Amino acid sequence: MSDALIAVKPEIAARAHVDAATYKAMYEAASASPDAFWAGESKRVAWMKPPSIIKNVDFGGTSGKVSIKWFEDGVLNVTESCLDRHLATRGDQVAIIWEGDDPNADAKVTYKDLHARVCQLANAMRGLGVKKGDRVCIYLPMIVEAAVAMLACARIGAVHSIVFGGFSPDSLSSRIQDSDCVLLITADEGRRGGRKVPLKVNADEALKTCPSIRHVIVAKNTGGTVAMQEGRDHWWHDACDSQPKTATPEPMGAEDPLFILYTSGSTGKPKGVLHTTGGYLVWASFTHQNVFDYRDGEIYWCTADVGWVTGHTYIVYGPLANGATTLMFEGVPNYPTVSRFWEVIDKHQVNIFYTAPTAIRALMRDGEAPVKKTSRKSLRILGSVGEPINPEAWLWYYRNVGDERCPIVDTWWQTETGGILISPLPGAIAQKPGSATLPLPGVKPALVDNDGNVLEGATEGNLVLTDSWPGQMRTVYGDHERFQQTYFSTFKGTYFTGDGARRDADGYYWITGRVDDVINVAGHRMGTAEIESALVAHPKVAEAAVVGMPHEIKGQGIYAYVTLKAGEEPTEALRKELVAWVRKEIGPIASPDAIQWAPGLPKTRSGKIMRRILRKIAANETDALGDTSTLADPAVVQELVDNRVG
Ligand code: ATP
Ligand code: MG
Repeated sequence: MSDALIAVKPEIAARAHVDAATYKAMYEAASASPDAFWAGESKRVAWMKPPSIIKNVDFGGTSGKVSIKWFEDGVLNVTESCLDRHLATRGDQVAIIWEGDDPNADAKVTYKDLHARVCQLANAMRGLGVKKGDRVCIYLPMIVEAAVAMLACARIGAVHSIVFGGFSPDSLSSRIQDSDCVLLITADEGRRGGRKVPLKVNADEALKTCPSIRHVIVAKNTGGTVAMQEGRDHWWHDACDSQPKTATPEPMGAEDPLFILYTSGSTGKPKGVLHTTGGYLVWASFTHQNVFDYRDGEIYWCTADVGWVTGHTYIVYGPLANGATTLMFEGVPNYPTVSRFWEVIDKHQVNIFYTAPTAIRALMRDGEAPVKKTSRKSLRILGSVGEPINPEAWLWYYRNVGDERCPIVDTWWQTETGGILISPLPGAIAQKPGSATLPLPGVKPALVDNDGNVLEGATEGNLVLTDSWPGQMRTVYGDHERFQQTYFSTFKGTYFTGDGARRDADGYYWITGRVDDVINVAGHRMGTAEIESALVAHPKVAEAAVVGMPHEIKGQGIYAYVTLKAGEEPTEALRKELVAWVRKEIGPIASPDAIQWAPGLPKTRSGKIMRRILRKIAANETDALGDTSTLADPAVVQELVDNRVG
């Protein structure tokens, strides 16, 4: 991989919240005295009663019993930090810019409007009998109502569980059942890429198997006709329009639950990750401000869906806690054209842009022209999240989108971590394309071997976190045993991320992929990310996914699925060329044993490649593909099964 250092830009460092010296001082302070450091940082949010106890954590090193508490005697309501406290100073500032799927549809919502709409829905929910601690499922498209619904739940102390609007009735139903939600908030239909998504129809189907749901609130979005069940279903506008525009915020203990969110399911059945109130909000605000170097008045755009944790922390809670203007996009990167992202940036003068490698790689297929025809002068900082970003994609993003002017923050984190843990800070840390670089203050990563021995210096191993940070998940909803088992039993006394990483001589972290995906070729352990990056670096390759397959001599062989760029032909000569290319880039040990041309790859709805399915296909175990409920396009799998090599 590329180890080229891209230095911190002096003009960014000069104005940054955190420069190199500050980063060092903060990191040391948070390590030496977490209580003092986080007591200070806790002041960034509004408390009804400030905490006197800061950190109280046991990773179960001796007992096996895990307990994680931050700010435990503090009392707050997150909506006071995200809304009320802004009213006096920035009530008329835009809180949310909404950009529709249709490029002619947009809207601006001020902090004052947002506060009023949240209070009205909060009152309506209280009127339907929803109380503190009740679970509310949100199944909405990317419309302003999604943010309103999240905040209204928080206002009354209900625990939201968002299910991505692209999920099927079955996936919706199993998530509602898992946490016994009492209310569902949905819409008539959604819009994505010029098509309509039948949300209410899906919801009706799901609710046949969800006895816990007492009421459904339906936002009128497209105006499409839907069936409304008397007594159960209520139109949003009927329920809210006559409600008062103020509502008392429910006092919440810092450790009272804020939300449940299911992981994306790349490695198996999704887990119901539970986050609580105080620590999560402090972490969301701290990381949003420092990682994106957010400053007052900037326009900030995270392209994620609120159905993923990235949308929770970096579209809603972090930006609003910091009084930002956050952009919410209903559409997709390639509708109506592949210039859409860049056009939206120009239209709303976006300063900070945060997206995923899967989107970058998809847009790379169409070349530079669709980017270059837009200005993008407003951009200052770029971000990436979701998967390792291949150096090739990183450089394309850096050169074409940011015109080599904007630092890229490659942010490593998980649903479980609540917010970003490893990332460059734009004014403090020099970047290397493909590396998430260094841990944030308060984050203590370590690399361990398979026996749990801590490895020092430049090395490679299992990525663990040896201490807690405020935004950490507290439990798997309803199953603390599974929580302890999944995250704390592999390497006793540490949180195991499930990811592997390499640390270089500068102490920089390079995520090599899930450890379940590590390939062992004749005793050599290799991460999937490195081989995929080598393939993607070939000018004709758009995307690649690499898995291990059974091999008589080597134990495991390398099986690569390769998607070519638009207009490229899959030929035997190209196959040979790619094998030789990887051999040259990494070494003979990494030469693929099989290459399958893949018009598409199986991905989660959040755009991550599902290698566990590809592994089964490579091993010809196609009758036991495992949980495929979170796949974006199941048809892709059959195509790959039909054309497997060997
Ligand atoms: P499941 O846990 O159900 O298998 P998931 O891990 O895909 O699903 P998420 O919590 O959405 O669910 O994803 C977190 C994972 O995404 C990380 O563990 C890591 O593998 C990957 N990831 C996220 N950001 C980065 C990044 N910047 N670089 C490398 N990998 C990343
Ligand atoms: Mg995971």
